[in-house]
Amino acid sequence: MRIEQDVKLDFKDVLIRPKRSTLTSRAEVDISRDFVFLHSRRKYRGIPIIAANMDTTGTFEMARALAAHQLSVALHKHHGEAELLAFFAEQPPTPTAFYSMGINQLDFDKFARVKALAGGSIEYVCVDVANGYTKAFIHFIHKLRAAYPDITIMAGNVVTGEMTEELILDGVDIVKVGIGPGSVCTTRSMSGVGYPQLSAIIECADAAHGLRGLICADGGCTSPGDLAKAFGAGADFVMLGGMLAGHDECDSEIIEQNGVRRMRFYGMSSREAMEKYAGGVAEYRAAEGKDVLLDYRGPVENTLQKILGGVRSACTYVGARGLKELSKRTTFIRVTQQLNEVFGQS
Ligand code: 5GP
Repeated sequence: MRIEQDVKLDFKDVLIRPKRSTLTSRAEVDISRDFVFLHSRRKYRGIPIIAANMDTTGTFEMARALAAHQLSVALHKHHGEAELLAFFAEQPPTPTAFYSMGINQLDFDKFARVKALAGGSIEYVCVDVANGYTKAFIHFIHKLRAAYPDITIMAGNVVTGEMTEELILDGVDIVKVGIGPGSVCTTRSMSGVGYPQLSAIIECADAAHGLRGLICADGGCTSPGDLAKAFGAGADFVMLGGMLAGHDECDSEIIEQNGVRRMRFYGMSSREAMEKYAGGVAEYRAAEGKDVLLDYRGPVENTLQKILGGVRSACTYVGARGLKELSKRTTFIRVTQQLNEVFGQS
């Protein structure tokens, strides 16, 4: 047994220090990014925020609504082949929609069939496992990269620099970072495993950027300020589940309770999800996700405006003309847990 003594931080443990700036308005800030992916060599331009590949948020409706603002969606894994083909054949196409998959042979074969018919309209793939530290995961990445040299692969999840480097060397363009921070994730309490998300982002971004790779910070953002901190810490993309849940574009019914309208949102490893897609929770495992009822929030458009406004505001406070400059201009100040509890972070 070993104990690491370095302090590891979460979003709530820091604030961004204001810096002198010549910017006069948020309107002067450009929060889109341009990337050329390391392996696929494809070009990207957009606002690097991605809806999570959860079955509530990773929907076609969400993809269309977010694309109107240059944001992306990782479609969930449970769409049928016919509906995926219809979506990828739409004109005009929805750019930067990620096709998501797990790592078994059935996942590979389904992708091969859909990709053969959809052709170049599928450019982005998200390979998603709860634990990105297994040999089987690395083996799958090798196989996928060998078969599809020019697709952009996002894959994870991991939380450490050395595994980020390994994945980038294995053919991943964007490493997905986060174990345990998700709003409906119970991994930390069920297994005791996890890593404070801000530190994971800082360490994985440093490792990725050294090899010209990119990272996507996945999970744990509960406010626009958390996205600003994630980008400030070095995230190239940020993935959101809970912040985009509860909207019209989600695949979830509105439930009326005592005159209040709510929407169900659950983790993809929760009992609810396993019952829906895997016929129940296997005997050898426990659910690592929970089921919550969120207030219904109408069209996602309103929430998007708040998120994008918050990130723009962070850029103006530190004098960053573009999102690209935000991490260079970010100094985090540590705030104590007690202060957070007493004053919140308004
Ligand atoms: P959020 O933005 O809601 O905080 O986090 C979304 C992320 O939580 C997802 O992208 C995914 O990585 C993670 N997640 C979703 N469902 C589950 C689950 O059931 N268990 C765990 N451990 N993580 C989950």
